[in-house]
Amino acid sequence: MVQTTRRRLIPALLLLWALPAGAQRVVVVSFDGLGAETFFDDPVAAELTVLKETARRGAASRGVQPAFPSTTANSHAALWTGCYGDVNHITANSPPVLPRSEHTFLERGNGFRAEQLAAETFWVAAARAGVPAVAHQPTQGYPFTRFNAAPGAVVVNGYQTRLLAPHALWTPAAGKRMPDGSYLFEHGPASFRVIPGKKSVRVALSSGRQAVDVPYAPEESEPPRKRDLARRFSAPILLESPAPAAIYFRLFGLSENSFRLYVTPWHELGSSVPLDRIFREAGGFIGNGPTALLDRKLISETEYLEAMELVIRQMTRHATWLQKKFQPRLMQSYLPFPDEIDHMWLPAARSGEGQAREWRRWGYIAIDRGAAEFAKLAGDRNKDHLLWVSDHGMAAVSKSVPVSDMLKQAGLDSKAAYLYHSILVNTADWKQGAVPLSERAKVVEEARRALSAAEGITSFFTPEQDGERFGIGGPAGGDLYFDFAPGYGPAARGGGRGMGDERPRGVHGFLPARRDMQAICIAAGPRIRAGVEWPEFRIIDIAPMIAELAGFPAPPTFRGRSPLAIASKP
Ligand SMILES: [Zn+2]
Repeated sequence: MVQTTRRRLIPALLLLWALPAGAQRVVVVSFDGLGAETFFDDPVAAELTVLKETARRGAASRGVQPAFPSTTANSHAALWTGCYGDVNHITANSPPVLPRSEHTFLERGNGFRAEQLAAETFWVAAARAGVPAVAHQPTQGYPFTRFNAAPGAVVVNGYQTRLLAPHALWTPAAGKRMPDGSYLFEHGPASFRVIPGKKSVRVALSSGRQAVDVPYAPEESEPPRKRDLARRFSAPILLESPAPAAIYFRLFGLSENSFRLYVTPWHELGSSVPLDRIFREAGGFIGNGPTALLDRKLISETEYLEAMELVIRQMTRHATWLQKKFQPRLMQSYLPFPDEIDHMWLPAARSGEGQAREWRRWGYIAIDRGAAEFAKLAGDRNKDHLLWVSDHGMAAVSKSVPVSDMLKQAGLDSKAAYLYHSILVNTADWKQGAVPLSERAKVVEEARRALSAAEGITSFFTPEQDGERFGIGGPAGGDLYFDFAPGYGPAARGGGRGMGDERPRGVHGFLPARRDMQAICIAAGPRIRAGVEWPEFRIIDIAPMIAELAGFPAPPTFRGRSPLAIASKP
């Protein structure tokens, strides 16, 4: 939802935002789930030609320590704020809700949203210092607060706004047959008529005059090395109310009596300033790939990959449009890949399963094409700095440990709850808290003993002993953290499958010091010495480096240290 209260400020700000001639730009793009282990050691990384080239002409860290747990919302929050969850209060994808006195220890919030974010993001720090910034699809980018939005910083987020209609696959059976032979489909508050033809279908928005022809084309058989991404998708249809959007169609199947028509979701695009023409000029925002359709076997893997190409193409088009319109000196953008495909295919691909390896390779080729577009945002190599970063890696897991059940069996379920990779004690500072603060250590010890008995849990960490290293604890943090043996992971919430073997899946969240959980940081530009391999550093060290490169003072909440000292030219 556009914040209309900011509307009046815009003309004056736009004048201030023009990029001075000769000014340098810093571009930061996060690839969700791209681990250092994958980047350095996995054969699929040969497809990441743009990132490899940046590493050759710049520097790459051997590995970046994410947050603990090594999950998306809190690791990105640490990347943006230069501090971990003990300070910024984004401690997990579903963190406990603050303040403690008003919420029980069992309540969970949405860590991807901004309500609980308690420290300034780097684009706000930049804007405050007069460095115009664009934050494109960051986590914690919505709703707008003083920590994620400020005059001079344009913030765009379509992941935490209203979802009016999800990815859909339309077939005659899913629609309503009309007397004239067309089919009626609802997509959120809009309805569409699909008129089947011999070689295409015509899709018409029921209100207004918009319609688009969607020709049938067989599924792509060649990975997108040279061809256009998502080239067999239709032109967009523009939707206006209740939230402007542009949606696309892809006709995967057509026969005399049937069709299979994929439709992209209808998301609201949240923005801290009006973006009036973005959909008309740059097309739609898709968000994530259609994994739910793939899980339900409504689409095939290659059809999923075509949709993934569209997600990437549109993310780079929006980023390019935003940069052109606002001319920021600090530009941040994001891709939800390879996280999504590595959850599905990393284990099978690494164990040599041919099909999974090829699907995954296809996905990485598409990511590389996206990187090539993002790299153009830092087009002047003599002035601009380009940073490729990520939030965590990925590991193959085939055995699960039922942590919640084990706490229950130990009689601890009213005293301690399982938080992802940690235990939260129901201390008296929580609403209806049952454990006096003086007994907290005893409950932590009981939980440790109960979990020590589990096959697959290997090591324990506490805020007291390891808080400095991992940024664990704090008001929204756990009391006892733990890690799993290789191949083991936590059972899904409420999942009672116990310790059985499962089909391996890609999982993250583990100890951030683990090689398979480490993230990436690759940088190039005039102040980065070429060909350097940086040592391991922490994800909170990246925001201070961005401050240094873009030339704004690091706020005191930036707890990390810029690695530039070892990387800058003498
Ligand atoms: Zn992630």
